[in-house]
Amino acid sequence: MSAVDRSGDPSTGSSTAGASAGDANRFIGIDLGGTKIMGVVVDPRTGEIAARRKAPTPKDDPGRTATAIGDVVAELIEESGPPVAIGVGVPGLVDHHGVLHYGPNVPGVLGLDIAGDLRGRFGMPVVAENDANNAALAEHRLGAAKGHDHAVIITQGTGIGGALIIGGRLLRGANGFAGEPGHMLVDARGHVCACGNTGCWETVSSGAGLANISRELVAEGRAVRILELAGGDAALIRGEHVSAAMAEGDADAAEVLDRFAGWVAEGIGSLISLLDPGVVVLGGGLTVINQHFIADVRERVGATVVGGPYRPVVPIRAAQLGPEAGAIGAAINARDLFVGP
Ligand SMILES: [Zn+2]
Repeated sequence: MSAVDRSGDPSTGSSTAGASAGDANRFIGIDLGGTKIMGVVVDPRTGEIAARRKAPTPKDDPGRTATAIGDVVAELIEESGPPVAIGVGVPGLVDHHGVLHYGPNVPGVLGLDIAGDLRGRFGMPVVAENDANNAALAEHRLGAAKGHDHAVIITQGTGIGGALIIGGRLLRGANGFAGEPGHMLVDARGHVCACGNTGCWETVSSGAGLANISRELVAEGRAVRILELAGGDAALIRGEHVSAAMAEGDADAAEVLDRFAGWVAEGIGSLISLLDPGVVVLGGGLTVINQHFIADVRERVGATVVGGPYRPVVPIRAAQLGPEAGAIGAAINARDLFVGP
């Protein structure tokens, strides 16, 4: 139990010369993922990271999630000194009070008041937010959406995370739950989603989507190499098997990617018709999403947007901040709330 004295012992801040200037920009950002907890000490104005920590998400004992996050925070404080505030990102629906209402990728944390828990343990300001919203804030302030007051940021991993910047601000909605484009229904006769619905955009446009589309081909007696790479069990096909088959020049893997790009473009086209953003940013850990793929999607999107030939082309760009975007964005969110944008 490392209770931290907010008054701060100056002797612990030995690494920071001119303590007040350094301390005023020291924030902690935490990103809770399905497999790991990532934490950074960062200056939210520049994205400059002073310290980083990782720990596994306690999957077998979800009750320990808050404690595990707190332990990462404690280590970062020990290394860099107390921050101005702490921001946390969690994968799920987070309300305006920072309470998690729905998080299918981190079972057992329903109703978790992670901000309240950390506030109690460390006695400093803490804010919790949806993880994709945090990543979007980071891309908006420091990355690929910088300079755009209207932006759509899509994160394609196992599922799809998303966030909308409208008028220079994150769109949070009436309850804090806005920005879940992955669960727009795009195919009524499609695949079952992790959320329980059928035909969500993420069932065809995420890592899970690559697997689902591969299984469509398997059902047609195709995608033999992908199936082989998955050990012969279609249920075990994952995005990386498609990537691996692609790298070998497998034609059916190319067909999977072609259908996938079509779905990605349709979803983005709908979002452009709805929101008229100045830029669309694609991020996430899928290796198939490279510059070539983005160029392909960009080419298809025009045909899916209302009045496509008669409006400016919306740039589609790769995210710039990498896997730490969520943690950096969590710190930006904390600074926005407790200091000001
Ligand atoms: Zn869904």
